[in-house]
Amino acid sequence: MSFSSRTKAELAKERIKDDCCKIAALSALMRMSGSLQLASGSKKRLRISTESYAVTRWTIKLAKSLYHLESETLILERKRLGKNRSFAILLFGDAIERTLLDTGFLEETKEGIILGSGIPENFLQNDCCRRSFLRGAFMGGGSICNPEKGYHFEFAVASEQFAQDLCNLLNSYDLNAKIVTRKGLYVVYLKESDKITEFLALIGANGALLELENVRTEKDFTNNINRKFNCETANIKKSVNAAVRQSEMIRYLLDNGEFSKLSPELREIAELRIDNPELALAELGALLDPPLGKSGVNHRLRKLEDIALSIKRQKGDA
Ligand SMILES: [Zn+2]
Repeated sequence: MSFSSRTKAELAKERIKDDCCKIAALSALMRMSGSLQLASGSKKRLRISTESYAVTRWTIKLAKSLYHLESETLILERKRLGKNRSFAILLFGDAIERTLLDTGFLEETKEGIILGSGIPENFLQNDCCRRSFLRGAFMGGGSICNPEKGYHFEFAVASEQFAQDLCNLLNSYDLNAKIVTRKGLYVVYLKESDKITEFLALIGANGALLELENVRTEKDFTNNINRKFNCETANIKKSVNAAVRQSEMIRYLLDNGEFSKLSPELREIAELRIDNPELALAELGALLDPPLGKSGVNHRLRKLEDIALSIKRQKGDA
């Protein structure tokens, strides 16, 4: 499951308390992924498309609890396109007209009923509804990049006005959202990892938030030691052969993306070695908490060398 799908599945389990927020969430979801259909006898139906089973269940439950809408779900296999299956949910029933108007999917004007354009004002009044609207929008069409690969979050929408309103709503929480056009769509996006984290907190996706934070800490750590390495290698005296050899293999592990896979004990000793190229093993050990004797330090550095060597062999670098 992708990071996006996992986050949506997590949110689908969260209960929305108040009706005001439920309508806000449903409204956003409908605007992101709904289209209007006219069935026989000019009865209206709303079709919602999603790739997530969790979102499918969530939508049906929401529509039922608010408006007693009936539903039908179609499963669309898309294996040939190299994608997973997706779902089309059809919502219909006596209250469909009212649902469409309450959610702002349709708007009543003097000229008659038209498709809604921006975010209806009533969903922007209370903080609870604003967050819920963002959550619904995420469920309906938000996508978030796997943090291991990079930091990117976006909503892609067809309406310029809706995109602008979404962007303003995000920025009312100081998230530095921006809009770009892509293939005829308006893409509202967040780029900074701390803003994406804040967004996840805002919509209550705490599991996803933790996952992202963990990856971020890991990356910061690796960047940090990389920086140290670049400052410190210049200080390593050529005469300290062992330290040079150890530093080189730590460099090798870093360059090959293996460093973050090491155990905390090994990373700790690696970091100390780079910080203190001039120290003997016993002195290095004294810096650890709890302190470690000379043979313990030697054992860890040996282990590091073994790992580096076996990776070199695997890659044919040895
Ligand atoms: Zn509310």
